[in-house]
Amino acid sequence: MRVLVINSGSSSIKYQLLDPVSGTVAASGMVSRIGEPVEPGAVTVEHDSDGHTLEHDGAIADHAAGLRVVFDLFAQSGHDLTGEGLYAVGHRVVHGGEVFYRPTLINDAVVRSIDELSALAPLHNPANVVGIESVRRLLPDVPQVAVFDTAFFHGLPDAAKTYAIDAKVAAAQGIRRYGFHGTSHEYVSGRVAEVLGRDASTVNQIVLHLGNGASASAIRGGRAVDTSMGLTPLEGLVMGTRSGDIDPGIIAHLMRTADFDIDAIDQLLNRNSGIKGLSGVNDFRELQRLIDTGDRAASLAYEVYIHRLRHYIGAYLVELGEVDAITFTAGVGENSPQVRADALAGLTRFGITVDPIRNAAKDRAARYISPPDAQIPVLVVPTNEELAIARAATALVT
Ligand code: ADP
Repeated sequence: MRVLVINSGSSSIKYQLLDPVSGTVAASGMVSRIGEPVEPGAVTVEHDSDGHTLEHDGAIADHAAGLRVVFDLFAQSGHDLTGEGLYAVGHRVVHGGEVFYRPTLINDAVVRSIDELSALAPLHNPANVVGIESVRRLLPDVPQVAVFDTAFFHGLPDAAKTYAIDAKVAAAQGIRRYGFHGTSHEYVSGRVAEVLGRDASTVNQIVLHLGNGASASAIRGGRAVDTSMGLTPLEGLVMGTRSGDIDPGIIAHLMRTADFDIDAIDQLLNRNSGIKGLSGVNDFRELQRLIDTGDRAASLAYEVYIHRLRHYIGAYLVELGEVDAITFTAGVGENSPQVRADALAGLTRFGITVDPIRNAAKDRAARYISPPDAQIPVLVVPTNEELAIARAATALVT
């Protein structure tokens, strides 16, 4: 049984063909620079299958053209998607608004609703819609399922999801905290319960998803009760290029005194802030290299990142009261022992300790990094959003 998972961005498409039961990936790849002019010979599609990489060079006019190339590469590598055997297609959709709170079988009305939610996610939902429509045309007979990044946080308690702004304005504009990375927080928290050997409904936990985008969540008995991202994926932790929390007064100040218009504000906060805004680089490995050379701006970026992360960990410890696990996931969370150690340093009196040897182990499996007798287990659990999407799609179609 195979499921194709599609993550369609404004100028890229990431995809994976995988077995939703075992998680075995048959092929995966990425289309990049969609709709952009490219220099001759530039590779725009990379396709990995059975240990081999196939490449396509040349401009990709639009998402449909990109997907046609992908389907050709699948065929060349021995996987005919249009033939038999494809069970479902799972699409990652960023914003489900108030409408979608669980994986949803796609039909025309669903596509329209996702499109209508574009006002809440102008950078993401339109691209998701284009991806969905292209795949539906290429694979009209295969069921397609939308899996929403916001769904896991749909039921946040009122106190956690409500912004303290004029309630009438908020209601009229759909302004609330929606949360993102939900597929990852749900998958990882489920894995944590498995590793602890407990039913998820009995576990209170904090999940720290630290990738290019980053978010924290507080989960009580399998249900999210708080998360650091809000109306958009801009709120909360310091990220690769996004500011996370700022005083909203900064926006009015820049518009009044520095002639920033709304596009300039968007660009500043989404693309030129966070680690990049402070240090010039957005990749954590590069940041660490700069710190090693004694770069003061890079060190400050790191300190601000850790400061904000600890702020959320503290908040969620108090919010949950009883905590059974704290878990790190995604690129930085899975790979940076330094971040994990610094995020939880000096908390032994709260029952939280990171064991240096366990923390330094280069292991790809879900594992403990706290000592065996720790009051609050600390774990590293690799996230796998594609597998979670494939399983959600399968469950809905079965
Ligand atoms: P995305 O949010 O795009 O899915 P990822 O979860 O892949 O991102 O995380 C990307 C981040 O993880 C980058 O900042 C990258 O530098 C960081 N990262 C990856 N490997 C390592 C590593 N070995 N050490 C530190 N950071 C790493």
